[in-house]
Amino acid sequence: MNQYIERLQSIQNKMEAQKVDAVLVTSPLSVAYVTGFVCDPHERFMALVINRNGNRILFVPALEKEQAETSLRNIPGIVQEIVPVADTDNPCNLLKGKALHPGSKSIAVEKSHLRFSQADELREAFPEASFTDIGRHISLLRNRKTAGEAAKIREAIRLIEDVLQEGLTRVKPGVTEIELVAELEYVMKKKGADFPAFSTMVLAGANSALPHGVPGMTTVQEGQFLLFDLGVFKNGYCSDITRTFVLGEPTAEMEKIYDTVLRAEEAAIQAVRTGRPLAEVDRAARELIAGEGYGPYFTHRTGHGMGLEVHEYPSVHGENQDPIVSGMVFTIEPGIYVPGVGGVRIEDDIFVTENGAEVLTSFPKNLTRL
Ligand code: MN
Ligand code: MN
Repeated sequence: MNQYIERLQSIQNKMEAQKVDAVLVTSPLSVAYVTGFVCDPHERFMALVINRNGNRILFVPALEKEQAETSLRNIPGIVQEIVPVADTDNPCNLLKGKALHPGSKSIAVEKSHLRFSQADELREAFPEASFTDIGRHISLLRNRKTAGEAAKIREAIRLIEDVLQEGLTRVKPGVTEIELVAELEYVMKKKGADFPAFSTMVLAGANSALPHGVPGMTTVQEGQFLLFDLGVFKNGYCSDITRTFVLGEPTAEMEKIYDTVLRAEEAAIQAVRTGRPLAEVDRAARELIAGEGYGPYFTHRTGHGMGLEVHEYPSVHGENQDPIVSGMVFTIEPGIYVPGVGGVRIEDDIFVTENGAEVLTSFPKNLTRL
């Protein structure tokens, strides 16, 4: 069966089980995931309406209608109708007239995606309906990557590791963080990336102690850490990798910090076992770091799901009891950030198999002196 039809079928099974009259898929990534139609509608209304009887209607901004038709022509049966929404249209009126019975009793939406104002409009348009969430079900579907999806993620990783390799040749004392960012993003495009997966991060010296620091005019200096966190999108899927280097010779404390993060990262990778709670992955890294006395300096979760988005389900934190399942792709990225001294983060992307974590990133992790 075609992968899109399979995903739609899974949503329809869920509807049947929960006696939902209609589903409204409104996040552009979810629309792409279940139809193959990739579109950024900006603030305009876009929705795939799935009725319980199997009828599917795609509402798209009028200016995107041709694109939608072209995209959906190749795989018949994904939607029965494409409805253009003009800038002057009221989307709720169109929904009422075209797709949904005004007396609908139960409508499932993506609750974490709809704006509060849209929720108000929907409640007003369908006063008899109760609204449930289909977002989690779609997240869980997206969570188990197919072999085809994993191949696209591998490609995005291969690309970014090439970029990092080339970027390192531009490092020399006196170069600014932002110059290195510019070089890296130029190389990304040149090597065929669609775009950076997020704002490329290069942080030098004390700035590396800021987990979400902003690269600026700080220059790279001898005896300091230099942290790179970067990723690209390629064919709809992304990569996300962090490596920390030292320019010249590190101090004994810097070596200890680096070694602790590396061991924590490897312990977290070893803790990946299908059926175990995600919390255990976080715990493995955190206990090791705390054992070396750096507990208070590891200030974020251990990782996050990755695929169509750089951050998606699951969140790898200490309270997440959801089980690890094969097909998941997530990052493992513990760090230690000591104010005034600097920070180290090491981030790999892993694919969960029945045998544990397959590490997709391959860039060397031993402390490298540039
Ligand atoms: Mn990252
Ligand atoms: Mn990350």
